[in-house]
Amino acid sequence: MSEDLTKPELESEAELAFEGALRPKSLTEFVGQTKVRGQLELLLKAAAMQDRTPDHILLAGPPGLGKTTLAMIVAHESNRPLRMSSGPAIQHAGDLAAVLSSLVPGEVLFIDEIHRMTRSAEEMLYLAMEDFRIDIMVGKGAGATSIPLELSPFTLVGATTRSGLLPNPLRDRFGFTAHLEFYDESELYEVLRRAAALLDVEIDKDALREIAGRCRGTPRIANRLLRRVRDYALVHGRRADITTVREALDLYDVDALGLDRLDRGVLEAILKRFDGGPVGLNTLAVSVGEEADTIESVVEPFLVRVGLLTRTPRGRLATPEAWRHFGIERHTGGLF
Ligand code: ATP
Repeated sequence: MSEDLTKPELESEAELAFEGALRPKSLTEFVGQTKVRGQLELLLKAAAMQDRTPDHILLAGPPGLGKTTLAMIVAHESNRPLRMSSGPAIQHAGDLAAVLSSLVPGEVLFIDEIHRMTRSAEEMLYLAMEDFRIDIMVGKGAGATSIPLELSPFTLVGATTRSGLLPNPLRDRFGFTAHLEFYDESELYEVLRRAAALLDVEIDKDALREIAGRCRGTPRIANRLLRRVRDYALVHGRRADITTVREALDLYDVDALGLDRLDRGVLEAILKRFDGGPVGLNTLAVSVGEEADTIESVVEPFLVRVGLLTRTPRGRLATPEAWRHFGIERHTGGLF
């Protein structure tokens, strides 16, 4: 359990309920991402003034930064129903046809992990997004014909951790792409302050600041750490002050930069087994026993952002800060 505390993905039913309770319901409640919020606000207002469905929206960025929350906000703010689905759930064009043909006029369709849809579903989506129409294939071989089916106008909100994997024709059909960035510490402080108030947790300001500095720039992790600190304070009959936070986070193996076990595993592998790199993604993945996709979309963006890793054409390279953070002396000559 401890090693997964800073994993951005959701884990359990309890966590889903916890997240639901903390999810901001409007753009004003949504902390940070100022630019994206402004852009979305404009897009929604313009659509409302013209009495039409808002343009399709693509939300790109690492897990836990608020993509699902924003999709819900888009539906809520434009007063439209929301249908939720995901790329892995749409394995055949028929799965997508079933969803699309049952949308009510103006509905917001959220497809999480949209890059994981199959090619045939993707192709059906092109036409649906552009003309609110799909072609249903009937029969096989030479006798196959396609029957056009009109759809209700809808707004697609796609979320992806890997926008680079989306084919251009799909990416081009979104009227707006929002790139969500990791949150800075003052924004995370605000996320935590809001969550503590909603959960009725009494916690010192410097304790909140300490959590804000250790949650990998990710609101989902911030809220999860807050929950663990609350439990720790409760069990030990302590006030949630900075000492309690430090003890709780040490217990759960969250280091001063917020790196978790996998982050450290990846960096230590590069430093110790590959002498700082460069090392190819697949070799690295095998050496830490994790999927290359997880390393690329979950681990690396944060390590790059805090300046511990660089991606070069020859592979992944640990920075001098990484050597310092781990207190390891480099024993051979290298790039630095
Ligand atoms: P994934 O791609 O893994 O589904 P996500 O990007 O969709 O992640 P969300 O589920 O929207 O992330 O957000 C995770 C949790 O973090 C939410 O329940 C919400 O409580 C909190 N959160 C996210 N963004 C914000 C924000 N800007 N302000 C306040 N809370 C936020």
